[in-house]
Amino acid sequence: MNLIFLGAPGSGKGTQSKKMCAEYNLIHLSTGDIIRQAIRDKTNVGLDAKKYLDAGKLVPDDQVIAIVNETISEIEQDFILDGFPRTIKQATTLQDILETNNKQIDFVFYLEADLEHLIARIANRLVCPECGTVYNKIIKMPKIDNLCDNDNTPLIHRSDDNEEKATIRIQTYLNETLPLVEYYQEENLLHVVDANQSTELVYKNIKNILDRV
Ligand code: AMP
Repeated sequence: MNLIFLGAPGSGKGTQSKKMCAEYNLIHLSTGDIIRQAIRDKTNVGLDAKKYLDAGKLVPDDQVIAIVNETISEIEQDFILDGFPRTIKQATTLQDILETNNKQIDFVFYLEADLEHLIARIANRLVCPECGTVYNKIIKMPKIDNLCDNDNTPLIHRSDDNEEKATIRIQTYLNETLPLVEYYQEENLLHVVDANQSTELVYKNIKNILDRV
């Protein structure tokens, strides 16, 4: 079972992907995480991608597609795509990549969230740079101040998680990514989940859909 999580920045794609990967033994493929790691490693891809990330813009399709192509052709295990595809071009190319590798997408979960809440959610977000667990200064504090519950790593505030960048990222999402909802609806793969609810309820709803089909 291979899944895509689609949704605006701050809609909970990363959090839900992590929970689902742990329970269903899937690989979490987050293009954002892969790009941030490449930036930390100072690879050519990372150095080039940094300017887009810092500006809240999308990294060019060809670069992200190359990353996903390499990753999907290397893994045996089923996976969740989190943050990819983000454009129609990425979605159509993904189709080709999957066909080449005899794989398919089984479910696309669209985490639909009210946009006005997202900026506050993003601005209060803290992330563990080690395991990727997401916290929130208001609704999901770590047990010990600023330390990850899993591995005690000091939490960070992503450089693109301020109000200004979040506003640009949401606008980019509306222009470039939202058309994918219709695209996957036409492919009969789309399942809409109300992402304004608690993490636990959203997860329960996703699992209900999986159990039902
Ligand atoms: P995320 O962690 O998914 O919010 O992604 C953080 C940033 O990485 C985005 O704002 C983009 O700059 C870049 N990025 C991640 N995934 C993609 C993608 N599929 N296409 C283009 N840029 C991406």
